[in-house]
Amino acid sequence: MKLIDTHTHLYSDAFAEDRQDVVNRAIESGVDKFYIPAIDSETTQAMYDLEKAFPGRMYLMMGLHPTSVKENYEEELKHVEEELAKRKFYAIGEIGIDLYWEQSTLAIQQDAFRRQIKLAKKYNLPIVIHCRNAFDEVFAILEEEKGEGLFGIFHCFTGNLEQAKKAISYNMKLGIGGVVTFKNGKIDQFLHEIALEHIVLETDAPYLAPTPFRGKRNESAYVVNVAEKMAEVYQISEEELAQVTTQNALKIFNLK
Ligand SMILES: [Zn+2]
Repeated sequence: MKLIDTHTHLYSDAFAEDRQDVVNRAIESGVDKFYIPAIDSETTQAMYDLEKAFPGRMYLMMGLHPTSVKENYEEELKHVEEELAKRKFYAIGEIGIDLYWEQSTLAIQQDAFRRQIKLAKKYNLPIVIHCRNAFDEVFAILEEEKGEGLFGIFHCFTGNLEQAKKAISYNMKLGIGGVVTFKNGKIDQFLHEIALEHIVLETDAPYLAPTPFRGKRNESAYVVNVAEKMAEVYQISEEELAQVTTQNALKIFNLK
């Protein structure tokens, strides 16, 4: 069984002690590719180090995370542009709007989101969206930017059926992680109504570990637990679930 973790912060300090073991465990569990979202200029070097340590396994994204959009965001966006001009990345992410941690920066979050979508179009790359307490605000910008050049992943999707359909209407895949295994996660109740072609798997490690590891540090090997639960939701074999979601991921990241 081959799986892809489409969203994992393996460069995080949470893995400083045992990063090699964490990656090996994931590979042994069948995860053969890891997609690495950026946060801001402070994570860039750590991402490059990670890529170098695990040749052929790590696929880097570039972008400015909404919670890192602050007074210096012009500088940060310039950093994103410079890195993009330098070398290959596989997506612009993670980008979007977060009104859970910060509401006062909404206007500049919106500006940064729009401008990074334009960068994604320029480089013909998918976007990876972070959306927290901000569905209306995110959808408003996707509505402005919709069209052929707009595609990507709605990372850590936790909305309702209507919001799922709306995200898909903007060419977004739904990134499904640990939340689908939570008792109160809700998305397991309706996801079977969404065709599997719109789904990719992720962990968002070190955050949001799936059951039975909920509350502990998450790691990429646990994408297996997400796959197990999703096979149950779709009432298909884990093999089939893995195969389809892996193909979906390769397609969106243009690696088919
Ligand atoms: Zn993330």
